[in-house]
Amino acid sequence: MKELVRKNILKVNPYVAGKPIEETKRELGLKEIIKLASNENPLGVSPRAAKALRKNLSELNRYPDSQGFHLKNKLARYFNLKAVNFVLGNGSDELIDTIIKTFVEDDENIVTAEATFLEYKIISSVIGRHVITVPLKYFRYDLDSIKRAVNKKTKLVFIANPNNPTGTYVTSYELDDFMADLPKGVLVVIDEAYDAFIDVDDFPRSLKYLNENKAIILKTFSKAYGLAGLRIGYAIVDSDAASYMERVRQPFNVNSLAQAAAIAALDDKDFLKKTRKAVLEGKAYIYDSLNGLGIAYLPSAANFILIDLARDGAAVFKEMLKYGVIVRDMKQYGLKNFIRVTIGTKKENERFVKVLKKVL
Ligand SMILES: *Cc1c(COP(=O)(O)O)cnc(C)c1O
Repeated sequence: MKELVRKNILKVNPYVAGKPIEETKRELGLKEIIKLASNENPLGVSPRAAKALRKNLSELNRYPDSQGFHLKNKLARYFNLKAVNFVLGNGSDELIDTIIKTFVEDDENIVTAEATFLEYKIISSVIGRHVITVPLKYFRYDLDSIKRAVNKKTKLVFIANPNNPTGTYVTSYELDDFMADLPKGVLVVIDEAYDAFIDVDDFPRSLKYLNENKAIILKTFSKAYGLAGLRIGYAIVDSDAASYMERVRQPFNVNSLAQAAAIAALDDKDFLKKTRKAVLEGKAYIYDSLNGLGIAYLPSAANFILIDLARDGAAVFKEMLKYGVIVRDMKQYGLKNFIRVTIGTKKENERFVKVLKKVL
């Protein structure tokens, strides 16, 4: 069979997802399991979204609105832009795929950081596009080095802001500098999956780069809105670029329940507020606990923390699993001695700290 497969597929390093709760139950025969491995919302689903889901069940015999009319208009009002500035995706993961297929020719390349969201590299390699990766500097995107890595064949730069898995962010000054003298013809994809958790003043207002036709901004309903299982995200982009991306995506890529839930979720200010509060408080608690244990970590702008265990992270991950706590080992990111933990509920955070202490 190997001879029949496209050559670049043979080189693809598949994505390893956070271990599901159900699978852990099956394999280890455990009952009480907590998952802090995929940066999901610990408070569950936005209640307004849940209500919209129930209301729309009876329409499932119909195809979804291929144009996403209502959601795009809702987003346009939310951001004070136009509906034509939005492209919807089956999670922002799918939009990464759509963007690469729309813009990057066979012989062009993509630049991103080394320890960043794995999907940039995986999707590029599936499509067959060359990726240049630039090491982080003190665990942060090194935009100067990224700019030096950009060459005549570079079409896209991916910046996860805040970065997953480090939780570090690029400041507005750094991004302004970077965008200012970037060569013409390079598009910068700014992936803001965690923007709802930002609690600093110098985070970039990335929408301003839209006018300059240089940026595509990615957002998702998977994290702060608690809709990871529904698969819905969106790109904010110049209307001309959007029209080309619309040619590339599948006509029914975003299902009708996801569209209805997303519209309702955008109105759920109360849920967003509670989520932010839980994440900020949970983060402070875990920082405190790690400080007490003398364990190093990176202060995070997102809803997860990268922890430096100074020993094999995969082994600690496995040990913690036996106590019913699923975290993420960082081998695939090239961070062997680290684990990443998602902020959970108060109870989950306490259990995480207790089990980590026991395992270490
Ligand atoms: C979680 C995450 C996403 C979101 O992916 P979806 O496909 O929308 O669920 C995108 N980018 C980064 C950096 C992430 O961590």
